[in-house]
Amino acid sequence: MSVFTSTPAMASDSKVDKRKSAIRIFHNAVTAWVVLLFGFAFTGAAWYTSNQFVNANAEARFENRVTEITAAIHQRMFIYEQVLWGGVGFFNAVENVDRKVWRDYVDALKLEQHWPGIQGIGFSVPVTPEEKGSHIAAIRDEGFPQYTIKPAGQRDAYSAIIYLEPFDWRNKRAFGYDMWSNDMRRQAMTRARDTGEASTSGIITLVQETQEDVQRGFLTYVPLYKKGMPVGTVAQRRAAFEGWVYSPFRMGNLMKGVLGANRSDVEYEIFDGADMNADTLLFDSNKSLHADGPSNDDALKKIKTLELQGRTWLLVFSSGSSELTDAEKHQPTFVAIAGLVVDFLLFYIISSLAYLQRRAEGMATAMTSDLRTTQTELEAKVAELSASNEELAQFAYISSHDLQEPLRMVASYCDLLKEDYGDKLDNTGREYLDFAVDGAQRMRALITDLLTYSKIGQKDLELSRVSVDEVLGLTLKNLEMAISENGAEVTHGPLPSLTCDPGQLGQLFLNLIGNGIKFKGDAPPRIHVSAERDGDEWTFAFADNGIGIDQAYAEQVFTMFQRLHTRTTYDGNGIGLSVCRKIAERHRGKIGIEPNVGGGSIFYVSLPEGGTS
Ligand code: ADP
Repeated sequence: MSVFTSTPAMASDSKVDKRKSAIRIFHNAVTAWVVLLFGFAFTGAAWYTSNQFVNANAEARFENRVTEITAAIHQRMFIYEQVLWGGVGFFNAVENVDRKVWRDYVDALKLEQHWPGIQGIGFSVPVTPEEKGSHIAAIRDEGFPQYTIKPAGQRDAYSAIIYLEPFDWRNKRAFGYDMWSNDMRRQAMTRARDTGEASTSGIITLVQETQEDVQRGFLTYVPLYKKGMPVGTVAQRRAAFEGWVYSPFRMGNLMKGVLGANRSDVEYEIFDGADMNADTLLFDSNKSLHADGPSNDDALKKIKTLELQGRTWLLVFSSGSSELTDAEKHQPTFVAIAGLVVDFLLFYIISSLAYLQRRAEGMATAMTSDLRTTQTELEAKVAELSASNEELAQFAYISSHDLQEPLRMVASYCDLLKEDYGDKLDNTGREYLDFAVDGAQRMRALITDLLTYSKIGQKDLELSRVSVDEVLGLTLKNLEMAISENGAEVTHGPLPSLTCDPGQLGQLFLNLIGNGIKFKGDAPPRIHVSAERDGDEWTFAFADNGIGIDQAYAEQVFTMFQRLHTRTTYDGNGIGLSVCRKIAERHRGKIGIEPNVGGGSIFYVSLPEGGTS
């Protein structure tokens, strides 16, 4: 039996242990600190990651913007070049391009509307010193009496802007201007003429500029060759060369057109050529900032080069005052604060658990020690009680023992009185004497029983190997008279030998079998004694066919002086069964009653096979 119950119990015990140790880990002050430290580390990492993420985001945005702006500039420059080539195509397609035809052509392009930044589309022709006079005369004949090639002076070669549409007040300032006379322009013009490709000049201040809103500018030229002439080599191209279709650009206006409305998220400067200095600065998106000093160091920087029409532009980008949005700026702080809050909460919870655990343990310890004190006190009380019990038993034994002698005297003198003076007494006197004798006899019986009871409690067990068969034989002999008087029959099954106090076992058998005979019903008493072994125990059953015992009294009858009947019905003093229980208990055994099938009772007595131990 123990095997079956202990296995699951042990399994659940180990589960409980595991849970307990898990709880102990979490209910621990050290754990709280460790968790707090790890929490700090994690929060730090989260803050760092968030920072990185936010910056990476900003950087990606900046990169995008840089690419967008660079592409926009590049695209716009390419489109303008196409407009110029359109002019060349126009010259080739139309037989005689004069001022009016050119105006119509440029008007149709709707420059101001579609191409902001482009100052106009013009046509400039080369003029030799020999041609100079006739050239000026011819243009003056067209109705421009003031016309001349500017600046004045003798030079080896000239060029002259003859058309420049729209021919407004600003562009009129360039009418007749000899661009060849200016180094920067001449370089680009030469390159266009000699390569046959579009060519952009370096930084210039346009002759159209006045004192107001002075902007830096540049010019882009495309060459026009005589139709049908070969242009395979430089020499052929020079021979076939007729003039330059060109456009002046004002950088500020051009950039406004390229990028639309001002967006201050990214600042940039455009330098002409590889050097970055005030002279090569073509455009600055934020003039005011640079006037104040260098841009802040935290800003993101990026440099792009743009190859266009024979020139290289450097685009230097810088993220504006702050590339981070407000949400981004605060995100790492939020992450850190939230992390710290969680860390401290965890720390608080685990510390409180640890505190509660300690308190519970403290309480448990206190309770244990209380219990221990109570136990010690109880043990002392038990010792005290058993001492006084012993005293009491001693007292009962001595008193019953000492009572025997005077009682014997009372009884024997009563007998003598009856014998010697019986006939001298009247009936009433004799009746009284009989009562006295009867009383003395009952008292003797009571004292004998009491003495038996206290002896069992007092004396040490005298253990020996006992044959139960023999014990039963002796018992039956003692009960011979009762058996024959009542017509009783006592049978038995196989009976063992066991270690016990033989006197006490005899007393037990005598009391139980005697009761079986005494509490008989209508039928003559039939008593069967049997024995059954269960492990180290022998259980004896005394089954009778008597009046039986109500189960409600099954415990009560073993108490001293407890009887279920008056003496007039059944003789006795209520000590027999308490003696039996005492004997069983002294042998570390048990006694109990069950109803017998078909009437009567069965008394069960279990005794250890090998004596008390
Ligand atoms: P006594 O026999 O002296 O009355 P016991 O202690 O032996 O005292 O028994 C207590 C009571 O238990 C008895 O008075 C009786 O009522 C009941 N009793 C004991 N043995 C039997 C039995 N075999 N059958 C019926 N009743 C019994």
